Amino acid sequence: MAQIVDQLAELTGLRDRDTLDVSLVTSIRDLLHPCSVAVHRVVGDSGDERWLTRAHLGADDVAARADSSWADPRALPLLADRPERLQCLQTAAEIELTGEKQTTLLLPLASDTGVIGVVELVTEQPLNDDFKRLLVGVLRIYRNVQGLLDYSERDTLTGLLNRKSFDETFYKASAVPRSASTDQPGDRRHAAAGSYWLGVVDIDHFKQVNDGFGHLIGDEVLLLLSRVMRSCFRFYDQLYRFGGEEFVVLLRCTSEEDALAALERFREAVRGYVFPQVKQITVSVGFTDVRNGDSPNAAVERADRAVYFAKNHGRDQVRCHAALVREGLLEDDKKAGDIDLF
Ligand code: GH3
Ligand code: MG
Ligand code: MG
Repeated sequence: MAQIVDQLAELTGLRDRDTLDVSLVTSIRDLLHPCSVAVHRVVGDSGDERWLTRAHLGADDVAARADSSWADPRALPLLADRPERLQCLQTAAEIELTGEKQTTLLLPLASDTGVIGVVELVTEQPLNDDFKRLLVGVLRIYRNVQGLLDYSERDTLTGLLNRKSFDETFYKASAVPRSASTDQPGDRRHAAAGSYWLGVVDIDHFKQVNDGFGHLIGDEVLLLLSRVMRSCFRFYDQLYRFGGEEFVVLLRCTSEEDALAALERFREAVRGYVFPQVKQITVSVGFTDVRNGDSPNAAVERADRAVYFAKNHGRDQVRCHAALVREGLLEDDKKAGDIDLF
């Protein structure tokens, strides 16, 4: 009993969603002593969704293994490649597969927005009802913790991450040596190499949308824009709404050209999207590389200066801060430090 309370205290004390899945498999292993336990999540674009193993722990493993959170999606198995997991996901019901030596139990991993993955437990004997109830209870607590994290870290209108959660992720990103992978020991899959890029997105003439159609329609545009954003970037790119009509994306790319191409794709997608009332909007985007030891404010300011440049040069375009400095179109940071923008 004391052990159960300890495990639950550990799980509910976490504030970092990256460690939540590892903590979940650790709790389940310590409580139920299975041969192995894993959390597999669904990632990727609709129609091309894949399984990402967030944590896998064998009976004798010292630390959990995981696919890199920067895994190249094409290297991950498709949902249909693991039909039992897919069935568990689609039916949101437990599946028990009894083999000669082992039993595999699959349970849906639910969040407030639906089933987001499965928990896979391999045991020598089928779990009895008491243990199953314990397992289901742990998963409900996990869901509640996840819900609380979402509540504090996500923007209520769009569901994107909020400004508050940005700084912490940013410091993690800027602490990673350039081109090094963030793989944890034991990572099984190849991570997409590269460094981080920060893009700031500002809607063009958004005041006109509010003035012409009202705030409610304005809010609908913000919501739909966030959907376009989700569909354009990879699952590991972090998307934020900083408030108002300013959005931020923390991208992982190998080069300036790749970051530019990804942001251009997004700009084009917004331009081509038909909004129900407003029909068309455009965005101006500025981006910068994230430098070693960067502060969130310094990087956002560089990207903002590129946005400002885009606004003054016709809008509906993506501008790179470093490229503007190279071309002599923007002063470098030190000289521009005192200029008040926006
Ligand atoms: P620009 O092309 O120069 O960016 O022009 P703009 O009209 O978009 O100007 P700016 O970015 O300065 O204006 C932001 C406007 O966005 C002001 C306000 O009317 C609107 N806005 C800010 N937050 C919200 C919100 O949460 N909902 C709605 N509907 N409108 C918002
Ligand atoms: Mg603005
Ligand atoms: Mg604007």
